[in-house]
This record gives sequence, structure tokens and C-alpha cells, in this order.
Amino acid sequence: MFNYKSKEFADEIADCSYKNYKNCLTCKGKPRNNREWTLLASVVMAMESHESPIKLKVVAMGTGTKCIGQSKMSKEGDILNDSHAEIIARRAFLRFLFHEIKSAYSNNGSEIFHLQSPEDGNLCVLKPGITFHFFTSQTPCGDASIFPKMTTTISDCIGEECKRVKPNGTDYPLLLNDEPVLKKRKIDILKYTDHLQTSFSNLEQKNIEQLTGKTQSIQSFHAEDIFRTGAKCVPKGEQDNHAPGAGYHCIGVLRIKPGRGCRTLSLSCSDKMARWNILGCQGSLLNHFLVKPIYFDSFILGKCPFNQEAMYRALIGRLKEKVGLLSLPENYHLHEPIILQSCLKFPDGREDPKNLMDKNSKNENHDPCNTSIIWYRSGNESFEEVSVNGRRQGVTHKNSHKVYSRLSICSKEIFAEFRRIMNISVKFNKIPLSLYKFLNKDSHSTYHAYKMAANNYQKVWLQLRKGALKNWTQKSREQIQFCIEEI
Ligand SMILES: [Zn+2]
Repeated sequence: MFNYKSKEFADEIADCSYKNYKNCLTCKGKPRNNREWTLLASVVMAMESHESPIKLKVVAMGTGTKCIGQSKMSKEGDILNDSHAEIIARRAFLRFLFHEIKSAYSNNGSEIFHLQSPEDGNLCVLKPGITFHFFTSQTPCGDASIFPKMTTTISDCIGEECKRVKPNGTDYPLLLNDEPVLKKRKIDILKYTDHLQTSFSNLEQKNIEQLTGKTQSIQSFHAEDIFRTGAKCVPKGEQDNHAPGAGYHCIGVLRIKPGRGCRTLSLSCSDKMARWNILGCQGSLLNHFLVKPIYFDSFILGKCPFNQEAMYRALIGRLKEKVGLLSLPENYHLHEPIILQSCLKFPDGREDPKNLMDKNSKNENHDPCNTSIIWYRSGNESFEEVSVNGRRQGVTHKNSHKVYSRLSICSKEIFAEFRRIMNISVKFNKIPLSLYKFLNKDSHSTYHAYKMAANNYQKVWLQLRKGALKNWTQKSREQIQFCIEEI
């Protein structure tokens, strides 16, 4: 039997994620050998019962490092804006959940959900003993990636493209053919890897409670330098000082993902993951079919630069102080998942610093992979697709607005699947109460209208946007007003 708080559990989750990546995914969309790297994220389901030992099953998986700029976003919901692995894995998880909900409503029976009786509201509730665990091969971008490091000369971005800092504190890209810089960087990373524990034990010990919810300069850590994130502070909030060394970033604030060219509107993975800890990871549409939000019980990281305190601050701590001021509807709370790190490294991730030191190594996987892989279980089957720039790989520009160019996890397809399930619930006379009002409005109600009708979810979200997650960028209403033409 696993102990959910143990290192062994973290290793089991990492191991089954890597095995799933290796054995269940084709080669399509994976990084090209020795030249590229990517990030991996997955959702692992744990099933515990009295009769049998706990079983782990990977149910959703995503890879990717890219995010498209504002100018390439679509008003039709047919392009995936954010292709960071964590976001892809979470959307793939939605497809897994949709399939199970569909099975529950259509009398086939779901592996994970019970359907309540009509008197109780016709909603799905997770079966006892089922929990979900979120794995990511790298520390999420944004606030969780800002933490002390050993050295002062080279700064390093976690999970993003590298930058270094001139003495005056301005950024410029690290030139990868710059031999002395690379050598120095290798030594710095090695120092970091080998002496991480020593480093932190020498830092001023801060009580996590003291840090929660407060925006404060990381200089209070007395570290010489920090790991950095390419994600920039949201426009209306506190801004980074960009001071040399440890004063570069402020901490505990919302950040926008970097993108190629035009700026993006996507919040960093740290911010989105923090949101899941109050709203659940199921989103507002799925909420119509569920009794309770679905929370992840643990966040597990692969072997990578990592700091427990920064992860806690970014995903839980900064919300904790403010959550007491909220009036949360029944079943909502600030969920505190366990944060653990595995000692197992993702083979297609960024190169191991020790290998970079090996002069004979041919590995120079400096480039982030352009493609993303989307994978999820759907009953006894699995589904896999590869994306580039938010659409299916291989679609020509001419055909880019055809239905088959859409990813199964883009908003439009998620909405279409939602509508299919709604129709099944109507067919079996089990429609949830919150959807009654749409019964006679057929297909003219928009994605936005259905999202807004998830009352409890929206109540919580509104409060978060006014307080704990103030300044969250909103896509303009125009961008989420689309309908679907076919189901
Ligand atoms: Zn990210």
C-alpha cells in the first residue's frame, strides 16, 4: 500500500508517467533525438479499495513548451492558445472525464462516477477511493520557478528558453555557441545540482505562513541569485525590479507566459495550477454535471531544479491568507495538495547537467520542441494527436479553418462534447438542473452563456478575480461568444 506522502509514491507516479510516454505514445511529436527537449505533464488516477491493492493509471498526458501570441488567437475557439505541457495534460484530462460522464448518463456505467438519482439532482459523484495526481517533469513556469540559486553570474530560466543577465541587469539571449559561457553555465548548474540542499540550509529560514499571500522581494532570502521565469508580471499589478542578482523578480504575483513575437494573454502555469486548488481542475462546463469540483490530491515533479517553498507559495500559500475572506459555496475550499519531487528524470527533458560536462557527449538538446502531444484514455481506448501552433499537425494554411484542423481539446471541441453529453442527459431524462434553462434555446446559446450558467463556479471565480487572483487577464467577451454549428 502506498503512502501518498512518500518519496516512493512520487517515484511511482513519475515512473508510470514516463512508461506511458515511452510505451503508449507513438513517436509522432516527440523531440528529435539529441537536438530538442520538451516538457511532460500527466494526470495519474489512483484507485484504492479494500479488496485489491492500490492501482495507478495514467489517464491524460501532454507535452509542449509553446504559447501563441494574442494576434493569432481565434474568436471561434478553434485554436489552442496555450500549449505548455501542464495545460495540455489538464485539457486532455477533461476529455477523459467527459467520456466517463457520458458513460454515466448513458446507462453504460462509468469506471469512476456514480450518477445520483433524479431526486438528488442527476449529478455525477466520484466513486470512493478514486484520487487524481498531477505530474509535471519540470517546475511550472511563473511564480513557482522563482527561487534562490547558488551562483551570481548566469541566470537560468526553468522550463523556458535561457537568458543571461548583463551586469547592469538587462536581459539578452544566451548564445548557445558561446563556448566560454556554456562551460561556465555547465559548472554553475553542476554546482547547483550538487549543493542545492546545503544552499537552502544556509538561507534564512522563513516560516511559510509568513510568506503566504504577501508580495515581497526575494532579496529577503539572502540568496546571491535566483532562478528566473520568462513570464512577465500582469500589467496592472506589481512589477519586477529587474535588479541584478536576487532582486530581479518580485514574488507571489500573477504572470503572463512569454510567446514568440506578439505578447500572449495566457497566465503562467503556476497561476493556472493555483486556480485549480480552489475552483477545481474541471472548469465551468464540466461543473454542470458534477456534485463537487475535482481537486488534484498531489502535485509531483520530476527531477529538475525545484524548491518546495516556492512551489507551496505559488500554488497554495499566496491564496491561503485571502481565502478566509471569501464566502465559498458548498463543496468549494482551498485544497492543499501534497507537493513531492521524484528522483526520476524525464528522458526527453532538458539535458542532464552532468552529461553536458561530458566532452564525448553528442547531446546538445538545446531547442524546445515545436510540437505538442495530446493523449488521453477514453474508456478502454486511448486517443493521441499532435499539434503545432494550436492546430493539428499537418494541416495546411488553406485548410486551417476546416473542422478536421481542430484539436480535440480546443474550446470549440470541448464545447461540442459538452453539448453531446447534455443531449444524452436529455435523452435519458437525467438533465442536471443548471441546464434546464437551455432546453428550448437549442444551439443558439454560446460557449460563454453555458460557462456563465455554472453558478457556484462563477461565484467563486468572481471573488477570486476581485481578491486573491486580482488582475487575471480576461479574454474579451467577443472571444468566447462562439456557438457550434454541428454536434
Ligand atoms: Zn508553463
